[in-house]
Amino acid sequence: MKKILIVDDATFMRKVTSRALSVKYQILCASSGQEAVRIYEEERPDLILSDLYMPDMTGLELQRTLQDQYQRVVPFVFITSDEREENESRGLEAGAIDYIRKPFKPEVLLRRVDNAMRQIENAEQIRGLRTVLETDPMTGLLNKTFVQKTLSDVCAKETGVLMMIDLDSFKLVNDLYGHAMGDKVLIRFGEILRCIIRTSDVAGRVGGDEFIVFCRDVRDEALIEQKSLQINAMLLEAAKELMGADMNIPLGASIGAVMAPDEGTDFQTLSEKADKALYQVKQNGRHGYAVFRERFLSERKPDGGSHTMEGIRMILGERNRQRGAYALGFENFRIIYRFLVRTIENYHRKMELVLYTLNGDAETIDRFGEILGRNLRRSDVYTKNGANQYLVLLLEIQPDDIDIVQRRILTNWDKEGMGDRLQITSESVPLQL
Ligand code: GH3
Ligand code: MG
Repeated sequence: MKKILIVDDATFMRKVTSRALSVKYQILCASSGQEAVRIYEEERPDLILSDLYMPDMTGLELQRTLQDQYQRVVPFVFITSDEREENESRGLEAGAIDYIRKPFKPEVLLRRVDNAMRQIENAEQIRGLRTVLETDPMTGLLNKTFVQKTLSDVCAKETGVLMMIDLDSFKLVNDLYGHAMGDKVLIRFGEILRCIIRTSDVAGRVGGDEFIVFCRDVRDEALIEQKSLQINAMLLEAAKELMGADMNIPLGASIGAVMAPDEGTDFQTLSEKADKALYQVKQNGRHGYAVFRERFLSERKPDGGSHTMEGIRMILGERNRQRGAYALGFENFRIIYRFLVRTIENYHRKMELVLYTLNGDAETIDRFGEILGRNLRRSDVYTKNGANQYLVLLLEIQPDDIDIVQRRILTNWDKEGMGDRLQITSESVPLQL
C-alpha cells in the first residue's frame, strides 16, 4: 500500500483528509513541518499532502527543506484555502504535483490524489528506464553512449581534466584466473573510480577494460598524478584481495589526460588527444600517466616534494618488467641518444643507430613496431619517428652481430604473413669516436 503523509496544523482537517484517503492508502499524520521532517526520515512516504499555511513552517518551506536535505524531488500536493493564483503557481513551480482548494469533497480529493500517485509512478518508471539505458551493468558507471553524450556537453562548457584509463595486463587476469575473476576486477575498478572522484565528476566505461573520467574544475596536473598513484595502489590492493597475496600479474592502470578547455572544447578532439597520451604511457612502461600538450607530451614525473632514496628509486624505476627493447617517445629517445653519445666519449662504447623507413598502412607499420621491439634486447632503445620510421639504438653490439639482429627481425616479420603489405628499407651507422 502506498504511503501518504498528511501535514496540517488543524486536527479537524487531518481527520477529514485521512478519512477520505485511508480507504486506499496508508496514512501518516504530522501537525507541523518539523514533525513532518521527522516522519519523512523514518517512513519515506510516497506522497506528502500538506497544508500551505501553518504557523511554524509553511508547506513550501517544508518542501524546500526536504528537497535540500535529500537532494531529490519529494512529491507534494498542497491543500489550502488561499485563493490567490500567485501562491498556486509558486507551489507548482517548486515541483508540487497538484494544488487542492478547501473545502473539497472527499471523493474529489481521492481522485486527485490517485492522479498524483499515477504521475509519481510514471515518473519513477521513466527514471528507472533511464537508469537502465544510461548505465553499464557491470560497473554501474555510465555506459559508452551516455558518457560520450554527457561529455560532449560538459567539454563544450567546462574547465577540467579528461582522462582515458586503460587497465594494464588485464588480459592476464582472464587468462590465469578466468573470465569471472576478470569481471570481479572490473567491478572493483568501477568502485575504485567512484571512490576517488567527486560525485559531480563524470565517469563511464567505454570498452572492456577502458574507462573515461572527467574531473570538473581541475587545472592542476598534480591532481592527475595523485589520482594515478591512488588508482594504482587501490587496484593492486583489490587484486591481491581477490586473487591472493601471491598474485604477481603486473595489473595497474595507465592514464592519458588532457586539459579542457586548453586543448579544445570538443569532446572528440579532446578524447583523441587523451588517447594519444594514453598510448604514450603504454609505450613507456604503463602504471602511470601522461598529459597531452599540443607539441609534446609531458610525462609522469615525481611530485615537487622530497623523497627517501627508496621512494626515489621507485619513482625512477620501471614498474613493469617488459620483454623486448625500451620503447620511448621521440623526445625521450633524443635525451637517451645524447647521453649515450656522451658516454661513448668517455668509455669507448659501441653503439649502432638503425633507421627503418617503411611504406605501408598505419596499422601494418604499428604492427612492425611491435615485432621490432620484441626482437631487440631489453637494453636496446627504440622510438617511432613520424608516421613511417623507427629509430633503434643497439647497445654494445659487435659489427658482425648487426646483421644477425636485422635478419632475426625480418624473419620474424615474415612469419607475420604481412610481408607484401610493407616495404622496408633500413640504414645503419656505428656511433663511435
Ligand atoms: P594492456 O596492458 O596493453 O592494456 O593489455 P591488456 O592485457 O590490459 O589487454 P587490452 O587492454 O588490450 O584488452 C582488454 C581485454 O579485456 C580484452 C578482453 O579479452 C578483455 N575483456 C573485455 N571485456 C571484458 C569483460 O567484460 N570481462 C572480462 N573478464 N574481460 C573483458
Ligand atoms: Mg588494457
